[in-house]
Amino acid sequence: MTGPITQSAHTPWRAVVLTLFPGAFPGLLGESLSGQALAERAWTLDCVNLRDFGLGRHRAVDDTPAGGGAGMVMRADVLGPAIDQARQSASDLPLVYLSPRGEPFTQSLAREFAGGPGLMLLAGRFEGVDERVIEARGLREISIGDYVLSGGELAAMVLIDACVRLLPGVMGQALSLQEESFEDGLLEYPQYTRPREWDGRTIPEVLLSGDHKKVAEWRRAEAERLTRERRPDIWAKRKG
Ligand code: SAM
Repeated sequence: MTGPITQSAHTPWRAVVLTLFPGAFPGLLGESLSGQALAERAWTLDCVNLRDFGLGRHRAVDDTPAGGGAGMVMRADVLGPAIDQARQSASDLPLVYLSPRGEPFTQSLAREFAGGPGLMLLAGRFEGVDERVIEARGLREISIGDYVLSGGELAAMVLIDACVRLLPGVMGQALSLQEESFEDGLLEYPQYTRPREWDGRTIPEVLLSGDHKKVAEWRRAEAERLTRERRPDIWAKRKG
C-alpha cells in the first residue's frame, strides 16, 4: 500500500496516512468488510513513509524538545515537506493530525468525513509534532479518546474504519447502520440470537412474538434506558 499516490477514474473515498510505520497498514482494515471494499476499490489507501523525508545519513525525523524535557519531538522541516508532497495529488482531503488533545472523534464526525472525498491523516510518534507544522499547514487535531497511545497509527485506523463502513455499499444492510449506537442520539438496544435458551437465560418474549410494532417499542425503550443509565452526557444532550 506504500508508494506514489494515484488518482482513480471513479474517485473512490481516499485515505492517505503519513506514518513512520507504513508496514502497519492496512492491518485490520484489510480484513472483513473494509478489506473487501478496499479490494473492490470502494476506497483506497496510500501510506507516505515519513522516514523518506528524514534528514541526514540517519534520516532523522525527530529532535530534542526546545526548552528541555523528556522524549523527542517530530521535526517541522521533516513533516512539512512530507505533507506538501502528499497534498500535491490529494489537495482536496481534509488534513488531520491524530492527537490526544484534539477534538473528540464522534459518529457525527465519521459521517462528515465519510461524506467527503477522504482523509489525510498524520500519525504522530514520540512526544508529538512541532507546533509550527500544525499551525502552518492548518492541521485539524482529532482525538480518539482520553488516553495516550504510543503513536497515531491505531487512531488513524479507527477513523478510517468508522468512515469506510459508512460508505455506500460497504455494509450489506443500510438499516443496521441506522439503528446503531449514536445514530439516533441513543446507544443500541440489546441484541439476541439463537439458541432460544442458553445457560438458563431466555430471549425476551417480545422479540419472539412476531409483532413488529411491539418489538420496535421494546427496542426503543431499552435504547433509552441504556443511554440514560450508561451515558447521561449523551442523554442530556438529546433532551436538549
Ligand atoms: N506528548 C503527547 C501528549 O501528551 O499529548 C502524547 C504523544 S503520543 C505518545 C504519540 C502520538 O500518538 C501522538 O503524536 C498522536 O499522534 C498519537 N496519539 C496518542 N494518543 C492519541 C489519542 N488519544 N488520539 C489520537 N492520537 C493519539
